[in-house]
Amino acid sequence: MPESHVEIHLKSRPVGFPKESDFEIVETERPVPEDGQMLVRNIYMSVDPYMRGRMRDVKSYTPPFQLGRVMDGGSLGQVVSSTVAGFSPGDCVLGGQGWRQYYVTDGSGQRKIDGSLAPLPAFLGTLGMPGMTAYVGLLDIGKPQEGETVFVSAAAGAVGSVVGQIAKIHGCRVVGSAGSSTKVEYLIDELGFDDAFNYKEVDMSEALSASCPDGIDIYFENVGGATLEAVLNHMRPFGRIPVCGMIAQYNLEEPAPGPKSLIQVIPRRLTLTGFIVSDSFDRLGEFQSDMSTWISEGRVKSRQTLVEGIEAAPAAFLGLLQGENLGKMLVQISPESLS
Ligand code: NDP
Repeated sequence: MPESHVEIHLKSRPVGFPKESDFEIVETERPVPEDGQMLVRNIYMSVDPYMRGRMRDVKSYTPPFQLGRVMDGGSLGQVVSSTVAGFSPGDCVLGGQGWRQYYVTDGSGQRKIDGSLAPLPAFLGTLGMPGMTAYVGLLDIGKPQEGETVFVSAAAGAVGSVVGQIAKIHGCRVVGSAGSSTKVEYLIDELGFDDAFNYKEVDMSEALSASCPDGIDIYFENVGGATLEAVLNHMRPFGRIPVCGMIAQYNLEEPAPGPKSLIQVIPRRLTLTGFIVSDSFDRLGEFQSDMSTWISEGRVKSRQTLVEGIEAAPAAFLGLLQGENLGKMLVQISPESLS
């Protein structure tokens, strides 16, 4: 009798805000490795905002998820058995095969990690794709200078929390917005932000005037919508806006009209630059070296929100879109070590 495992399929393309019924929990045969392959048991999988875009049947920088098929995305697992050179049972690997308990691979696209360097969840967060997004977006596009003011939205999330801390390391004054008082306290008390506010409870423009009285030099854009609209009126001349994401738009069937304040890019001579982290993967080594130093020195801290069990992955994804996460949202699929 073949062993079984559970994987999550995309059942229907969400219209507006996704629902649990757009996903299907499927129990199926566990894949069996052939010669030249290895079997990996997933421990953690990442849910990320970009996955909402992949649920649409449109051409983009990543291909759409296929209906009725298992989805994929960032994952961290342990090799169970292997006939792949360089991979042995017990090795921890980063792969792109989330949304399932087990997978087989010939090793391509798998990166062995040294689990003694940091807690395993960090490799999908601060030391992984979100951390690198913060690093290249802030440093290469934002170009922070000592004494400048940096404002970041979705500041208590995976990317935003790292942006703020790297900006502090570069001597900036850092302000963040987030969607709850708990998140605001976390930013100020634990991560060392100079100021933060709950965007759901304030007038955005008044809050920016109060927390950034001299204006904003760098706005790290994660949400778009009303936030961008207000921020443009608070930018200092020659300000930079790394455009990382616009999560406020991801579940709209009709894109919202552009910000009325966009004209401010002219008198204020602003630079808005969109970017995708994968364009900068050649800087992975540099990023990992800097980030692991900052983590070991206690200058970059992180938290995760862990949701237990593969069956809860759709709920974790929906929760991410609604701000239920503090720090990186992850699904724990199996224990780190099996006794
Ligand atoms: P987060 O961990 O920040 O989680 C998403 C957060 O967005 C939620 O916790 C919620 O926090 C906030 N949010 C949701 N809806 C809204 C809304 N309508 N208005 C304001 N805030 C909202 O996710 P990530 O750190 O992974 O991603 C942050 C951004 O970075 C996203 O836009 C994502 O698409 C983008 N990104 C871009 C990459 C690139 O290469 N360009 C790579 C990785 C991420 P709250 O409680 O504060 O509302």
